[in-house]
Amino acid sequence: MRILLAEDDQTIADHTRGKLEMEGFVVEHRATGPDVWAEGETGDYAAIILDLGLPGMDGLSILKRWRASGVETPILVLTARGSWMERVDGFDAGADDYLPKPFRSEELIARLKALLRRAGGRAKTRASAGGFVLDEVARRITYDDRPIDLTPLEFRLLALLIAEPDRVFDPLEIARQVQGRDDDAGKNAVEAMIARIRRKTHATAIETRRGFGYTIAGEGA
Ligand code: CA
Repeated sequence: MRILLAEDDQTIADHTRGKLEMEGFVVEHRATGPDVWAEGETGDYAAIILDLGLPGMDGLSILKRWRASGVETPILVLTARGSWMERVDGFDAGADDYLPKPFRSEELIARLKALLRRAGGRAKTRASAGGFVLDEVARRITYDDRPIDLTPLEFRLLALLIAEPDRVFDPLEIARQVQGRDDDAGKNAVEAMIARIRRKTHATAIETRRGFGYTIAGEGA
């Protein structure tokens, strides 16, 4: 499988490339923003590992351009440690996962494989629960057969709940998975998003299990 590695730090790039190749991946490496953008736009890759801090054009702008032009390749973003804003911006721009630097190559590979599994499972791109129908490819969710107008973060949140009906999600876990942060501010943001989604659908579309978290009922419930 071909992977595009976008990283301007030569030491990290060499090390990461070596580990990926040991896992059997074919790695193309690019180190500047414009090169990365052009390669991702035209190349055929199973996934892209994208450092956000690149010379010439930053990773976030590249990501937005790719998504705007219809590039659907799964993208794992590398962010500065603790910079949750970068992660939120990254998810907003269309990243599929993120990994804070410095990272262990074992974790990078585990995340990459999970990303590829999810992408491969896109044959199963539709899921439904509690009146919601999720279409991963079209990035669209309907409720009672009506499309809902969602922000990218609201979409991620709903998709998470729909993918596992009847599972009760702790708000901090939702914040971590949706926004890449699990502090009080992240939790508050999740609560605000849930309230907005309910206004856009129905007050009981997402259930609150007091003291535990949020869930969407399965079809059989
Ligand atoms: Ca960098």
